[in-house]
Amino acid sequence: MAKIAKVTVLGTGVLGSQIAFQAAYFGYDVIAYDISDEVLETAKRRFAGLAKAYKADKIMAASDLQADAALEHLTLTSNLTEAVADADLVIEAVPEILAVKRETYTRLSQLAPAKTIFATNSSTLLPSDMKAFTGRPEKFLALHYANQVWRYNTAEIMGTTDTDPAVYAAVVEFAIGSGLIPIELKKEKAGYVLNSLLVPLLTAAAGLLQGGYADVDTIDKTWRIATGTLSGPFQIYDLIGLNTAYNVALASSDPRMQSWAVFLKETYIDKGKLGMASGEGFYKY
Ligand code: NAD
Repeated sequence: MAKIAKVTVLGTGVLGSQIAFQAAYFGYDVIAYDISDEVLETAKRRFAGLAKAYKADKIMAASDLQADAALEHLTLTSNLTEAVADADLVIEAVPEILAVKRETYTRLSQLAPAKTIFATNSSTLLPSDMKAFTGRPEKFLALHYANQVWRYNTAEIMGTTDTDPAVYAAVVEFAIGSGLIPIELKKEKAGYVLNSLLVPLLTAAAGLLQGGYADVDTIDKTWRIATGTLSGPFQIYDLIGLNTAYNVALASSDPRMQSWAVFLKETYIDKGKLGMASGEGFYKY
């Protein structure tokens, strides 16, 4: 299996822009594709913002020069044929809608050369839900980034039963080469490793609060002091953003989660309290 050098990212939204910038920052040649030139104008602003954020945070061991150079490794296009014509790896970060993903893979299967590996960044769908549409299930897997990838640099890597181990290994190598810590899953699991751990914790915290057992501060303090971690569950809610928490709760069939969704909406979201990003959620920032 040849080494991955040319990377194409589909979708330049919240995550796609970060995925493209991170790879370019570490010297990969990156093409960022989105559906229209208008969307690409927004993407340009996102990339400029990311260059600033990488410089300001100085978390990745690198210089300001590297952040500027990343922009030179990035090409933007709304032409899918050109975008994937010579790609070693296509990372798909299109909206989390199964039909859109499947349609994207159907087009990709016709346009990309046989060598191209496809990776989905989907948070909630399994690669098995899409593999039949790729035309190359042995060259398809999930590569899941965290939001603010330059700070939270895990890359969860998850194949299907069809994924070729050599393809999996090439993607692990790419993850390391682009400054990420590979988290290797041995088989498919909704929620990967991180959300399989995090969602039950956050759900339990919601149950304690809504059941009237303890207040926000007590629940967070307990978790921090007794486990030696830096953040309690409600601090984590604020970091993730209450809109996302609301959408996840709303999608659940559990009536307790439905009641949690209503609570989040009426107590916080409707009052503009969306978490850390808006300056207030369970805490003030
Ligand atoms: P987003 O809505 O911010 O961006 C989606 C982008 O895809 C937009 O720029 C849109 O124009 C583009 N798009 C729409 N249709 C397309 C198509 N057919 N082909 C190519 N591009 C198309 O979404 P996002 O938050 O970046 O999420 C993208 C993926 O990343 C989802 O699968 C999501 O589950 C996953 N993800 C998101 C986060 C997060 O925190 N936002 C974290 C990890 C993974």
